[in-house]
Order: sequence, then structure tokens, then C-alpha cells
Amino acid sequence: MQMKNNLLDYTMEELQDVLVAEGYSKFSAKQIFDWIYKKKDLNFDNWSNISKKLKVHLDEFYEITLPEVVWSGLSKDGTRKFLLKLSDNETIESVLIPARDRLTQCVSSQVGCAIGCTFCHTGTQGLKRNLTPAEITGQYLKLTLWLAENVHVEERITNIVYMGQGEPLHNFNNVKKATINFLDDHAFGLGQRRITLSTSGLVPKIKMLHDFPPINIAISLHSSNNDTRTELMPINKAYDLERLFEAIKTIPLKAHRRITYEYLLIDGVNDQQSDLDGLCELLNRRESKINIIPFNEYPGSEYKKPKKDVTIWFMNELNRRGYTCTVRQAKGDDILAACGQLKTEYDKINLWKPEEEKSERLRLF
Ligand code: SF4
Repeated sequence: MQMKNNLLDYTMEELQDVLVAEGYSKFSAKQIFDWIYKKKDLNFDNWSNISKKLKVHLDEFYEITLPEVVWSGLSKDGTRKFLLKLSDNETIESVLIPARDRLTQCVSSQVGCAIGCTFCHTGTQGLKRNLTPAEITGQYLKLTLWLAENVHVEERITNIVYMGQGEPLHNFNNVKKATINFLDDHAFGLGQRRITLSTSGLVPKIKMLHDFPPINIAISLHSSNNDTRTELMPINKAYDLERLFEAIKTIPLKAHRRITYEYLLIDGVNDQQSDLDGLCELLNRRESKINIIPFNEYPGSEYKKPKKDVTIWFMNELNRRGYTCTVRQAKGDDILAACGQLKTEYDKINLWKPEEEKSERLRLF
């Protein structure tokens, strides 16, 4: 049987090209986008302004598949965590984080991750595969529909961060296509400032960001010292701080835009005076924002969360020295907060539990 193509995999330009090549009008791509992304109606049969001939063609060669929600949990701080199953039964996590006037979705870009950061639960899983563009934007579309059905029809996800499982730049082309659709007014139409891509520092791909839609870029820095950074992030062996910052200089920044540097603060590892001084030597005040993330311990993690007074001192001192620095509060601690933890627990259960007991067990988390 011939595999069908997922319509969510196409950008507007690509869909126009394939439809024209298949004997249909360019305009029908706009109509199809309108049904999918604006009306959020995924059933070809309902597409009243699409010709019968094209509907038959779509039925034969195309489909729209979304990830399936296999588990969701609501934290007492309002964070919602989801485990999504893909069509090959692989699972990924996606998280919705509310904050004042926004609702941010943290999306995954890969199943597992090859980077192997030693503080990260996903890093222990290795890389299974890249997500397709449809599986990336499908996380957003699925949770938009889920919210309308389970919370409120007017509930909107306003921001996207590529900070879920995977290194987004390791899946450059698919993340690029997904981002085009996140931005495209014919598709999701999110503003450039509402999307942030976070990278561990994949230097060759950072140098390709001139060929990527203009969105916010965050760099997972975590240390200003090469030895410590290599201990935390093995990628630093291949692309050390010198090479990383050379590459960062090539990122095209629009006026008034700054790079965000994420700094996972870990007790006794990178929270000393010398770490702070090193950070100030490395970063330019005007072009950087520093986001301190107090390490969130998970069962089996080898690192410890930083002391509260040290976290506050670190932030205040950076602010005092003229940097824009904030502390990102841990969210959803009570629902398996560490990235990849939920997937690991699910996979464990999946190996030995009969079908009907799995969901029961998952509710226990
Ligand atoms: S922190 Fe990000 S880049 Fe590092 S192993 Fe985890 S998912 Fe991969």
C-alpha cells in the first residue's frame, strides 16, 4: 500500500508547487491551509469550497495525522505536561506553561537526543530519530484542539519554545519548515518574537542561522569555563566556548534583539564567584540576556539544586554589573518535571504492562 503524505509537512510554497505539478490550481493550496490552520477542520469531506476531484485526489494521496495524547497532567502551578504518541508508537513530551498574559508551549524536535548533556534526563535516552515538520507543528495543533475540547474554546497557545526533547538545530531542515508554518499568516501566524529556539551550541548549524526564519535564539551556556562546560555538555569537546562565540557572532540579529543565554545553576558546579566573573568576561552586556535556571533534581540525577540565597546572589550580582538577568522559576515540579522523565516512565511501563493497565498506571504519576 502506498504511504500517504501528511499535509502538515508542507509549507505554503511547497504545497502550491506539488498541487500545480499534480494538475490543480495554486489557489487550492491557500484554501487547504485555510481549512487546516484557520478553521481547524481536518476532515476533507467538510471542505466545501474544494472540488470533488481534488478531494478524491487528497483522499488517495494525502492525510492529516496528529500525535495522540496518551497522558496529560496538570501541575498545581498550572503547567500542563503531555505525553504524545507518534504514528510509529514513539513518544515525545510537550509542555504548556502559563505566565500572566501568555501560554507557552515547549515543543520537542527529536525523539530522544544525541547531545547527551549530563544534567538532562533525555540525554540518557540517546537519539532515536528526527521529528518531521508535521510532528513538530502537530504538537501545537493537537494541544490547541485539546485545549478547546478540554479547557476552553478560546484558550490560545501564544508562544513556542524549542526547548523540549532534542537539539532543534540537529534537525535543522524540519525545524526550519515547521518554523515557517508557525510564522506564516496563512498557517499559524505567530509573531517572530513569540518563537524561541534553544540550542546546546551546534556550531556548524549556528553558522547556518542566516538561512533560518528570524526568531529568538537562546544558547544553553551553563558555564563560562571549558572544563566545566565539557563535563555538563559533551558537545563542548567538539565546539568549545571560543568556537561557539565565533559562531554566535554570525547570527543575524535584528535591531534591539538580544541572544538569551541559559545558565543552569547547579550547586557546587557553576555557582561560585569565579563562575560569575567568567560569565561577565564572556558576555556583552548590550547583546545578552541571561536566564538562570535553578537545577531541578530528578530521581537518579547526579547534580543538586542550588541554594536559594546563592541563586538570588548570582542574579543580583549580574544585574548589579549591568546585565539583564532573570531567574526562571521551576514549573510543574509535581508532574515529573525533568525533560524526558515522563517518556522514560511510560516506556518502562509499556514494556511489561498489558494494554488496559497502562493508562491506570500512568494516572499514578
Ligand atoms: S539538554 Fe537538550 S540538548 Fe542536552 S541532552 Fe537534553 S534535550 Fe539534548
